[in-house]
Amino acid sequence: MTGIQLHSVEKVYPNGFKALHGIDLEIHEGEFMVFVGPSGCAKSTLLRMIAGLESVSEGQIMIHNQCVNNTMPKDRGIAMVFQNYALYPHMTVYKNMAFSLMGKASKQEIDRRVHEAAEKLEITNLLQRKPGQLSGGQCQRVAVGRAIVRKPKVFLFDEPLSNLDAKLRVTMRVQLIDLHNQLKREGVGATMIYVTHDQVEAMTMGDRICVLNRGEIMQVDKPVNLYHQP
Ligand code: ADP
Ligand code: ADP
Repeated sequence: MTGIQLHSVEKVYPNGFKALHGIDLEIHEGEFMVFVGPSGCAKSTLLRMIAGLESVSEGQIMIHNQCVNNTMPKDRGIAMVFQNYALYPHMTVYKNMAFSLMGKASKQEIDRRVHEAAEKLEITNLLQRKPGQLSGGQCQRVAVGRAIVRKPKVFLFDEPLSNLDAKLRVTMRVQLIDLHNQLKREGVGATMIYVTHDQVEAMTMGDRICVLNRGEIMQVDKPVNLYHQP
């Protein structure tokens, strides 16, 4: 079985607060899964545990058939895109995108991947700029580009659009869905997990939606099945 499986996953923070209770979930390979729920329901905690940025207190996280509970973030085949973009301010867009590959691929290969990703995201004309010279939407595209160049099997998005204005948010939603479909067509089939507190965003983006509340899963289903239609 490929994809991601969570078996009875729990999170207890060092202060004793239990943020997640018995989470069982299967995310299929190539699926676009959205975690939605109110602020504080532990969406971000769950995503960070899959990323390896938070330890697992109980249970198991499997990525592509392998238990990753004790695997370093960089060895999980994932890339994460954050709400605040987390770009390096003193580096050009090109360098921001190339950075994680340096020393791991040849200069030509890095150059090829950066230009390929930049074209996909329509930021080729921005490659020589620095983050301070970019708009919020452009920064977010660079952040996505930085994830793409690593060719991860799994993309994790933590409220990536919530700092953008409403109009741009809608545009970027469509672009992320297009990106997912494009990777699928290229046979890469990237699994995407997307965290949001915005129900509309969840409904328009997810192949399936996982609704969380107070650290528990309320429902997991396709958008059309999620709400009762009288
Ligand atoms: P969400 O992403 O859904 O807003 P979080 O995953 O950030 O929720 O937080 C879930 C719960 O865990 C919240 O009640 C939050 O206060 C708590 N929490 C988050 N980080 C810590 C921490 N380091 N120590 C203790 N409690 C935490
Ligand atoms: P390394 O230490 O192997 O050179 P990198 O340069 O790829 O690792 O990145 C440094 C750290 O930051 C690693 O832990 C890596 O997993 C993490 N990292 C870099 N870019 C991303 C990203 N887009 N999403 C998640 N983690 C990232």
